[in-house]
Amino acid sequence: MTQELVQSAAAELSAPCPQCRVEMLYVTALPHAHAPQMRRTVFVCYTCNQTRTYSLSAAMAEAYAALAAPRRVQKGAPATNAR
Ligand SMILES: [Zn+2]
Repeated sequence: MTQELVQSAAAELSAPCPQCRVEMLYVTALPHAHAPQMRRTVFVCYTCNQTRTYSLSAAMAEAYAALAAPRRVQKGAPATNAR
């Protein structure tokens, strides 16, 4: 169930580079200085060799993080943090 959600989200969560349209890679999410419910998500475009930072909701940031770390929870115990 959770895995299906992540995979269906994958199509919607692609982050194309505004410059070259290549899909960027999620790097990390940092706390937002002025909005506790927001995250500053960092993406990198290897084509432009440039990082880009976007302010996203915590939920969106988590979704990207889940996509960036696929199958990390699959081999261990069943995921207990399903929401
Ligand atoms: Zn680019």
